[in-house]
Formats: sequence, structure tokens, C-alpha cells
Amino acid sequence: MKKISTIEYNKIKNKEDLNAETFYFGNTNTEIFCMSTCDLRLPQEKNFVLFDSKEDALAEKYKPCKKCQLTKIGNSYTKQWREELKVYIDKYYYYDINLEDLSKQIGVSKFHLVRSFKSKFSISPINYLIKVRLVKANEILMSGDKSISEIAYEVGFKSYHHFLKSYKKRFNEIPTATRKIKDPKD
Ligand SMILES: [Zn+2]
Repeated sequence: MKKISTIEYNKIKNKEDLNAETFYFGNTNTEIFCMSTCDLRLPQEKNFVLFDSKEDALAEKYKPCKKCQLTKIGNSYTKQWREELKVYIDKYYYYDINLEDLSKQIGVSKFHLVRSFKSKFSISPINYLIKVRLVKANEILMSGDKSISEIAYEVGFKSYHHFLKSYKKRFNEIPTATRKIKDPKD
């Protein structure tokens, strides 16, 4: 991870060097990293850092940007794909994961994907994904002051309503109740 000069930053910002190779940059504020081709707005100069590689960014505990779809790149599955998929979900639960993409990447049908995963772990991949997201959301709720909708988005839910419904089903309480347990004076 390294800082760059204002001149270099402005070159990137103004897309002056169109033939530049793909590079990775991060936002020190959000700790999210992107590929140079990302459509999102560039971080401010004071928050901008460059990485040598995707691995470098991950090693610094930066999260891949959802928009860049970084997690899709180079993810290959072997015969142990069920275990690998579980690890993938544990690691990238906040990413936009869907059966369509997974079945293509793994090279099995959606039907086989679900049935096979379920026979191994007694839970479907999507339900496992939701479970991981909810457990994570619960942890964040207990440990900080982020707003509940922010947390829902951060762990990967696209719909706030779906988050609330799933949360209540899993923990038998609404997220605001969890927060009150953590901090009863509120
Ligand atoms: Zn991005």
C-alpha cells in the first residue's frame, strides 16, 4: 500500500494515461478497494492509496468494491467446491452473490449446486449466506453506532425490509431491540 503524489493523483483523476495497466486503489476512510476501471467516484486525494495487487489490498484487510465485482475474478473451484464455496461465503458474504453466477463459476447446474451443498451442510447456499450476513449484522449492532440500514447494506442485503424480516426470524427480535440490550440507557 502506498501514497502517491498530487501530480500522479491528478493524472489518474483526469484519466490522462488511458493506456495505463490495470491497477488497484483503496479508500483509507472506507477501507474498500477498487480496480482502476471502476465507475465509482475516486476517493479524495488524502484518502487515496495504491496497491501493488489485489492480494496486497486483501492482505491489508481492505474489502473489494462491490461495483468492480473484484471477487469474481480468478475465483476457481476444484472438486472440493462445496467447502470452497462455504469459505468463499464466509469471506465475501457482503458481496452480491447469486446462484446464477455461482453455478457458472463452479460449472454445475443450479439444481445440483443447491442439492449438493445442502446434502453436505444441511443448509442451502443462499440460506447459509443469509445466516452469515445476519450473524455479522448482529455483531456490528452490538459493537458500534452505525445506523441499522447502513449495517444491512454493509453485510450485503439489498432490501432493508428483507433484512428486518430475516433478522427477526433468526434472532426473535428486531435490530433496535438488540441495540438496546447493548446500550440499555438509550
Ligand atoms: Zn470499485
